[in-house]
Amino acid sequence: MSIDLEKIVAIDIHTHAEVGRGGQDGLRPEWREAAKEYFGEDAKPTVDDVAVYYRERNMAAVVFTVDAETVTGRPSAPNEEIAAAAAANDDVLIPFASIDPHRPNAAEEVRRLVDDHNVRGFKFHPNIQAFYPNDRTFYPIYEAIEEAGVPALFHTGHSGIGTGLPGGGGIRLKYSNPMHVDDVAVDFPHLKIVLAHPSFPWQDEAISVALHKKQVYIDLSGWSPKYFPPQLVRYANTQLRDRVLFGSDFPMITPDRWLADFEKAEFKDEVRPLILKENAIRLLELR
Ligand SMILES: [Zn+2]
Repeated sequence: MSIDLEKIVAIDIHTHAEVGRGGQDGLRPEWREAAKEYFGEDAKPTVDDVAVYYRERNMAAVVFTVDAETVTGRPSAPNEEIAAAAAANDDVLIPFASIDPHRPNAAEEVRRLVDDHNVRGFKFHPNIQAFYPNDRTFYPIYEAIEEAGVPALFHTGHSGIGTGLPGGGGIRLKYSNPMHVDDVAVDFPHLKIVLAHPSFPWQDEAISVALHKKQVYIDLSGWSPKYFPPQLVRYANTQLRDRVLFGSDFPMITPDRWLADFEKAEFKDEVRPLILKENAIRLLELR
């Protein structure tokens, strides 16, 4: 990895390669339409587009897809493609993988992607992948991730995907209560965990889990800092200052917009560099 940690201005812990080079789009067309409406964004970058975009901004980015093929019947951008692009752009990109937890070989896939493709973490989306994070059926997957020593990142809180559709497009919100991840943190005390997003309507739950479980981080992606609940900003400035991470959720929220609104939000000056870069460097062991 050749990221120049002194030179880059920030590390974005949460970006999406929305489509594969072959046009694979893991989201159902009706979810895609509704997401456009909800986020006001229609960009569908490949992993190559993400590299160009972040290099222009002198930032590094963690990039991943969302694999939910057993639920949607649709393949997403391949993890191997993302890993290969990250290797070719290792001054900018840090590859995470996404494995549909319902795949019978998911734990072996974790080991294969870490060993053979240098994947540096795993993203889960309990709403789209339709699973409770604390369902023990999936524990072998976490065992493999813990053993690899890389983070597991869970979408938490409201899901923009499905928002505004009749029946939420079939997506259930119950899966993304961060309290389900509390069990995972107890049962895997050496597994580094990221609770993604301000976890509306369970923000206090997310703060409590992170306060209580030392290996749990919170990423601030998917929302403009303008709309962060005050208690999230308060804890980010104090007890959780070492465990809060900059993330945009690009392309749904752009880092440009996020950072402009972060400037104006009530974060302490000494905490800003921790959120933008230092906490991610420690979590991802980049130094
Ligand atoms: Zn995301």
